Amino acid sequence: PLIPPTRLRAMTLPTFVDLNLDPFWMPFTANRQFKQSPRLLVSAAGMYYRSIDGREILDGTAGLWCVNAGHCRPEIISAIAQQAATLDFAPTFQMGHPGPFQVADRLRRITPDPLNHVFFANSGSEAVDTALKIALAYHRLRGEGTRQRLIGRERGYHGVGFGGISVGGIAPNRKFFGSLLAGVDHLPHTHNLEHNAFSKGQPTWGAHLADELERLVALHDASTIAAVIVEPLAGSTGVLIPPQGYLERLRAICDRYGILLIFDEVITGFGRLGAPFASQYFGVTPDLITVAKGLTNAAVPMGAVIVRDEIYETFMQGPAGQIEFFHGYTYSGHPLACAAALATLEIYEKEALFERAASLAPYWQEAIHSLRGLPHVIDIRNLGLVAGIELAPREGQGGPRGYDALCRAFEAGLLIRVTGDIIALSPPLIVERSHIDQMVDILSRVLQELP
Ligand code: PMP
Repeated sequence: PLIPPTRLRAMTLPTFVDLNLDPFWMPFTANRQFKQSPRLLVSAAGMYYRSIDGREILDGTAGLWCVNAGHCRPEIISAIAQQAATLDFAPTFQMGHPGPFQVADRLRRITPDPLNHVFFANSGSEAVDTALKIALAYHRLRGEGTRQRLIGRERGYHGVGFGGISVGGIAPNRKFFGSLLAGVDHLPHTHNLEHNAFSKGQPTWGAHLADELERLVALHDASTIAAVIVEPLAGSTGVLIPPQGYLERLRAICDRYGILLIFDEVITGFGRLGAPFASQYFGVTPDLITVAKGLTNAAVPMGAVIVRDEIYETFMQGPAGQIEFFHGYTYSGHPLACAAALATLEIYEKEALFERAASLAPYWQEAIHSLRGLPHVIDIRNLGLVAGIELAPREGQGGPRGYDALCRAFEAGLLIRVTGDIIALSPPLIVERSHIDQMVDILSRVLQELP
């Protein structure tokens, strides 16, 4: 099927007229619904997308939580173009090129201190699976091969690899795919409207939920547990902000029992909370950090795992001529991704974008919370430059309000992200106060008209 004729007439770009929407099987999308009334973006610059019918769309979500420095940055474009023309590809298995060494060296300067070694992947999902494998192999190399259990959290999102969906806590992402990884448990999530609705910043209630880890240790024995993985702030399942003291308690319990703590910072990395990583924002240092998205400003896919020196050194202790870790991707440290990452990290530093996020956070908080009291709004939560707005579920028919809100916001010129009835906002860190005002204005109109 082609784009419906009513849409075709409005289009500004004739090259798209013959677009056949059928062959592309869209990810995490209701394909048949979308293809009836597609929302297509054709260009972007700074804070804005342009839709295929020529409208400006304010980017309220930094693409998919990833375009932290704003769209189509000339420095990144030219770095990629130059790299493509110089060295399009080089293997990093038993071979190398300067790119990944440079990116790793630059990255380690902004990670928490003992995390100084970087393994490259091409996405968040790959980074997560890599981190889980590093954790398992680490214990085995230390003679603690019985530590094979992994612990995730309900409502955790760690990508879509088999490892990631096993430790992830989202039923639809798990239930179709067999028995998944064995030996995985889940901590309870920390979302609680009864105690924490309309919290500004970190909610006060819920630190004790970390103690569930003690229960799992008692049940399985510490000698069987390899790692705990959590998003410091859970993004994809609706912006769940960690209660005060919660991450500190997780860290303390992991320390007590020799369990590795993995922070999945695919969303929180690169300034989202106003510090380079959530680890620094919360003052809690994990053993491994997974990143992707903002690492390249999303211009080229790239993911990575950053590990504590002690983990890297444990792998380096065997005979020098032996491969230390039987894992890697053809595109680990791809030249184009490295070029994009270097240019991106340079922008973050030169423009002090993480500090900028921190200084805008109070304005963002008040602006977002001004939506309190509008129809259907049952919670608003925020931290750094991220916010969640939870809407009351519809009774009976009609589906989630969230999707309706997304369609209406898009028509009104704003890109938002929704999960069920939760709206997530995470603008590029270059956002101005006037953009925040525009977002709030559009959302307020959308919410007032939403059935
Ligand atoms: N972990 C987290 C915390 C994420 O938010 C995401 C993506 N939203 C992923 C992993 C997976 O990343 P990707 O889609 O790049 O595989």
